[in-house]
Amino acid sequence: MTRREEIAENLAAVEARIARACAAAGRPREDVCLVVVTKTYPAEDVAVLYDLGVRDIGENRHPEAARKKDALGSLGDEVTWHFVGGLQSNKATSVAAYADVVHSVDRPKIVRALSKGAARAGRTLDCLVQVNLEGASDDGRAGAAPDDLDALAALVDRDEHLRLRGVMAVAPLGAPPEPAFASLRRLSLEVAGRFPSASMISAGMSGDLEAAVAAGATHVRIGRSVLGERPALR
Ligand SMILES: *Cc1c(COP(=O)(O)O)cnc(C)c1O
Repeated sequence: MTRREEIAENLAAVEARIARACAAAGRPREDVCLVVVTKTYPAEDVAVLYDLGVRDIGENRHPEAARKKDALGSLGDEVTWHFVGGLQSNKATSVAAYADVVHSVDRPKIVRALSKGAARAGRTLDCLVQVNLEGASDDGRAGAAPDDLDALAALVDRDEHLRLRGVMAVAPLGAPPEPAFASLRRLSLEVAGRFPSASMISAGMSGDLEAAVAAGATHVRIGRSVLGERPALR
């Protein structure tokens, strides 16, 4: 089997899972955008995905993401690039030059860095506030504490270079995802009630996309199920 055949087969299986999950939740398939997360995989795989109709690509590291976009040339400009990984402020400034949507905005420092980078590049950036569904944000996992979400969303919303689009979360490890995704949905309703542009819910990965779609996810971030198991990171 060629790499293209392998990706096509996996993609069809993921598409079928999303379609089934949407049907089970009584949601139209168009409600859910599939973002294929290509971290650790080469630009050639992004080109294959593009050829198979995928237009939303996720990356979690700078400068890997920038290099991949550059390697793709004009095709790279046809893709919507979603940055889903943890950010430091120096990297955030760089990411703002090429990412279209940043899913991992989790503290004021990152808001300022993204704003600076977007201003410098003459761009406006779509932003999601990442929430830590396990409680406080000082436990080592990424994401703002739910109590800080409102203030952070307001900070993004009033920034002229950033557009507040919604919320994002990763389900806790080693626990059922349903309660976490239900909390995310409640938080999303609060944020979207105050900021109407913030209707996106980014949730669901290879292992839990069904639970995320059931809880209202508008964007699922799928890596392994499309591209195969990654070698261990770091
Ligand atoms: C890698 C990654 C994904 C995709 O995870 P898979 O388990 O490979 O589907 C989704 N979201 C984030 C933030 C990631 O870093």
